Amino acid sequence: MTKRVYLFGDGKAEGSARDRNLLGGKGANLAEMCNLGLPVPPGLTITTDTCNAYYEAGRQFPEGLRDEVSAALSKVGEMAGRQFGDAEHPLLLSVRSGARASMPGMMDTVLNLGLNDETVRAMARESGDEGFAYDSYRRFIQMYANVVMGADHEAFEEILEDEKARLGHELDTDVSAEEWQTIIARYKQMIEEELGTPFPQDPHEQLWGAIGAVFSSWMNARAITYRQLHDVPASWGTAVNVQAMVFGNFGNTSATGVAFTRNPSTGENRLYGEFLINAQGEDVVAGIRTPQSLTEAGRIESGSDKPSLEKSMPEAFAEFVEITKRLENHYRDMQDLEFTIERGKLWMLQTRNGKRTARAALKIAVEMADAGLISPQEAVGRIEPGSLDQLLHPTIDPKAERNIIGSGLPASPGAATGEIVFTSEDAVEASRTGRKVILVRVETSPEDIHGMHAAEGILTIRGGMTSHAAVVARGMGTPCVSGAGGLRIDSRRKRLLTLAGELGEGDTITLDGSSGQVLKGSVAMLQPELSGDFGRIMEWADAARQMKVRTNAETPADARAARSFGAEGIGLCRTEHMFFEEDRIISMREMILADNEDGRRAALAKLLPMQRSDFTELFEIMNGLPVTIRLLDPPLHEFLPKSPEEIAEVAGLLGVDPDLLASRVEELHEFNPMLGHRGCRLAISYPEIAEMQTRAIFEAAVEAAKSTGAPVEPEIMVPLVSLREELDYVKARIDAVARQVIEESGQSITYLVGTMIELPRAAIRAARIAEAAEFFSFGTNDLTQTTFGISRDDAASFLQTYRQKGIIDHDPFVSIDVEGVGELVRMATEKGRQTRPDIKLGICGEHGGDPASIRFCQQVGLDYVSCSPFRVPIARLAAAQAAISATES
Ligand code: PEP
Ligand code: MG
Repeated sequence: MTKRVYLFGDGKAEGSARDRNLLGGKGANLAEMCNLGLPVPPGLTITTDTCNAYYEAGRQFPEGLRDEVSAALSKVGEMAGRQFGDAEHPLLLSVRSGARASMPGMMDTVLNLGLNDETVRAMARESGDEGFAYDSYRRFIQMYANVVMGADHEAFEEILEDEKARLGHELDTDVSAEEWQTIIARYKQMIEEELGTPFPQDPHEQLWGAIGAVFSSWMNARAITYRQLHDVPASWGTAVNVQAMVFGNFGNTSATGVAFTRNPSTGENRLYGEFLINAQGEDVVAGIRTPQSLTEAGRIESGSDKPSLEKSMPEAFAEFVEITKRLENHYRDMQDLEFTIERGKLWMLQTRNGKRTARAALKIAVEMADAGLISPQEAVGRIEPGSLDQLLHPTIDPKAERNIIGSGLPASPGAATGEIVFTSEDAVEASRTGRKVILVRVETSPEDIHGMHAAEGILTIRGGMTSHAAVVARGMGTPCVSGAGGLRIDSRRKRLLTLAGELGEGDTITLDGSSGQVLKGSVAMLQPELSGDFGRIMEWADAARQMKVRTNAETPADARAARSFGAEGIGLCRTEHMFFEEDRIISMREMILADNEDGRRAALAKLLPMQRSDFTELFEIMNGLPVTIRLLDPPLHEFLPKSPEEIAEVAGLLGVDPDLLASRVEELHEFNPMLGHRGCRLAISYPEIAEMQTRAIFEAAVEAAKSTGAPVEPEIMVPLVSLREELDYVKARIDAVARQVIEESGQSITYLVGTMIELPRAAIRAARIAEAAEFFSFGTNDLTQTTFGISRDDAASFLQTYRQKGIIDHDPFVSIDVEGVGELVRMATEKGRQTRPDIKLGICGEHGGDPASIRFCQQVGLDYVSCSPFRVPIARLAAAQAAISATES
């Protein structure tokens, strides 16, 4: 028969910390504390499997469960020296949930269970405190009726307030035992009237009601949402912990509190916590009374005049401190503890690994590794890679008040404050005069690059996590909120319409790119601090990882930032971003408007020196590290003006007829530009563009090699290939130009020509494409877009609905779809290596900076990942964790 009930107490337990999946976190740790001989009130844990069986049977308890619980409960009674339901010495119980992953406050709890009209008298007799007994009883009725019977919590509060007013009492503690009895009678009457059933007097009925309620709370809306947000599967189920009550509200020698073995926000190695005298656990968290500090040092720091536990109950405190040390050493991690002191006797109610900020996590991991408690590899594993974001950008001070006026996707982390501007020109203009601005656009396009650079933060109304705004902002390390659909722009009046009314140009807002919130006004910030602990963890991570980490960068500022974060080269230089500066876009437009090859070549000749100097600078910054440069990718119309006014202005600048310009714009218009004339298709139509870029790359390589002394091995990447023949055509042009430059300069240059794998056909035909390609770089943005047939710029609105309806559990543009897109990557990797065993394989889509996707990249054996500069440390850490878990499994 399956064992469904596990007993603990009196220094032993049937389970242990290893049984977390079956007993839940709380149950496993209670068992473990018992095994360590710590003072834990005796109890039993009903397994998580039982929860699943309960649901499978249509919310019925499995057969035999009642007998098993009864048997275990009498043993609990023996250990506690009292029996459940006994009229003389009643055992009272707490009934709590406890899933495998901690889900704070999401599920139900019932305390003081077992009280009824008879046992309450025994409790009064035994405690010698009638008021305490009846107060406990009314708390129990209130909690039970609410949690188990579904009565409205407010209704009880109304009765209580009403009676207190009638009696002229201010505080609950003023209410006498008789008065509590009147209140209890009114409670019971209200329950019967409202719910049509009396409050159960039978303790066993109470117990099964509570156990059923805890199981049912696994499926309440709160818990379901929490699980979705934290990727907790519904199949895990919750355990139920039924435990003998201990009372922290048994007068002034009793207390209850919570503690962390180290400070959870700074990581400082000092006991940190709070308690309340004469209170139950709920009172500490409820915030009705101000809790007191556990330690004298903490009390002095907080400027409180209320005594610490260290002073007021020195013996219990000393025992507690001993236990915290033992538990931390035992679990080899910072612990979050709950305890109760009943008439001077200490009881441990919970221990678990404590949640902490990124800063604290680094400090704790490094100090524990230095103390020999954990290995450097374990220290690396203790840091959540995504949390490093908190350390690399200014963030909103957690203490600051937030006046939220809208929200969107957390597209690029960090926080920024500035005045609203609605156009890129205004952003550039304002930043010239030293003003800080937030660029607010419906969506951004490559033409906004300048404004985006000038702005402190970017807010868009439309667009997802891989929209232009999101990708570019992340690349620049600029905070961005994208797809804030609840906001509207009235561009004619230059107004932003928000939940809290209208704002105009020049009004100040703050973006929290880490949460997606838009706030009114300016808000206090904390500046990033790359402390020594950060460096130590990164060192250990680098020693453990196998994949290289490169960056996606095209500006010198990005390239420098990425190197300072530890990038080992550039994995993607998107050259199109280099053509938007004022002096370049004119030549670019001339080139696009030219109606013959000679005209195009003349305009390209003007662009050549600019491109060359861009590449030279990038090569110099990278000082011999590999640099992958991608040939022009986007459709040409992105470089042309759109509105009639813009067309007129540009025609004037270029000295061409506005109608001619307008008709060329019209000609280049595409219904579906993402699937249109872009990528290598441009190089095939206009090979002279690719030739100019190639020449710039090779001439720059010669120059940079001279100035740095480090040879440059350029990697030239052809985008959006699906046919081997496309690559052959473009590669032939690249090779021809390379030969010319090598001859002209008299320098030998080794270089690679490779391709993006970003279309399903390319993945399927990878074996053949690898005959021509010396490297593959997986462009998982386009590969996701084309595999799903979902536009990366329009996906945000409906993918959100998909997530809410449980159709997908994460956005495939953020974290790779392992089963679909991932399968194509795996296949292309294998086929590529079959043809060319030493083929270099990397990823440069947004997924290259996502920890879960990086784990997948390690599994398929890529050589490197490439991501935006601010994600480089995250990728280094995630790659190390992936390598460590690969060697462990
Ligand atoms: C990709 O498609 O994944 C990629 C890196 O290219 P881009 O985002 O520039 O289309
Ligand atoms: Mg692409």
